[in-house]
Amino acid sequence: MTAVLPERIAQARELQGLTKTDIASALGVSPAAVAQWESGVKTPTAENLAALARIVRFPIAAFQRAQPVGFSQPGPVSFRGRSDAKTRRANMRAEQLAKLVAEAYVWLGERVAMPKPNLPEVDGEEVTPEEAARACRRAWNLGDRPILKLGELLESQGIIVARATFSGEQLDAFSCMVSGRPFIFLGSDKEDRARSRFDAAHELGHLVRHQHYTERHLSDSEDHKQLEQEANAFASAFLMPAETFGREVFDTTLNGFLRLKERWGVSVQAMVFRSFQLGLIDEHRKTELFRQMSAKGWRKARGEPLDEFVPEVNNSVGRRGVELLTHNRIVQLWEIPSEVPFPEEVLHAAFGIEGAEYELPLPPNVVLLSSASDKSG
Ligand SMILES: [Zn+2]
Repeated sequence: MTAVLPERIAQARELQGLTKTDIASALGVSPAAVAQWESGVKTPTAENLAALARIVRFPIAAFQRAQPVGFSQPGPVSFRGRSDAKTRRANMRAEQLAKLVAEAYVWLGERVAMPKPNLPEVDGEEVTPEEAARACRRAWNLGDRPILKLGELLESQGIIVARATFSGEQLDAFSCMVSGRPFIFLGSDKEDRARSRFDAAHELGHLVRHQHYTERHLSDSEDHKQLEQEANAFASAFLMPAETFGREVFDTTLNGFLRLKERWGVSVQAMVFRSFQLGLIDEHRKTELFRQMSAKGWRKARGEPLDEFVPEVNNSVGRRGVELLTHNRIVQLWEIPSEVPFPEEVLHAAFGIEGAEYELPLPPNVVLLSSASDKSG
């Protein structure tokens, strides 16, 4: 049997958000034994490995797969808070998911040419989020118009956009650089379109501005709060440039903003914030609009009307890459889980392909015969 890699055991466990003690009690071994497997001091028996694979839903082949040469993840994986245990666990899961998806892209990138990463460098302290957003638009030749195909735009600049659900649980949006490639992971609730677009632009803000931050900054709640505000300000400025958006805000009632929603692809809430920030409405008006939105239930998740007219954040690079391989018969779809032996959820996040699609198709000449009882009637 090929050797089991200790770092994969830790990875599989963290991907499920489990502790060593969780694994130990599920397998009936000591936590020290699990620690020894993860540090490489001891190797689990074949029996324990099989049981472990079942618990963490990690294919045995993945435990034996070496990481690509030079694979690295230098910056933080997520800019969410570090304070409570629940977020720490979510960050751990996010980090392992990101690394595995990135590995799937290393595999794809060896077979298919993908857009080169093109992130502008605008992360100096003296650059405001507003200036950074403008610089980013300029670097990508975007002008000042609304961006409707946001997912396509990000992908064309070499940013991988992935949708992340994990074991039925929604992950918050997060972003990271892995092996020189930027990734944005969005929660899988595609139906909250305005939110999804804002999340994607917020993560873009982290990617262009915050890559030099370390875990130390993120564990300081004041620093963390500031990073979040900056990313929000970036998203707001990136999606709603001051001049062009500002020119269109003249009716500052909720209905007036609602009319702009489809065109700009942002929530009324975000437009009200932006208008206040640009000095188009005063504090009093902003408070009044928020009061009205609360009364109408618009501030609850998916509470705002007309979201179905907002364009989705599409992603297709992974799927199209895989299609290119299958159409050219370089790899068959059903071979992918053995070529990239990662959990189904990882492959889904990477390539957007459902598990069942990987199944070997029936040969075309297999047909259902009508049964004897059909003939009798
Ligand atoms: Zn953030």
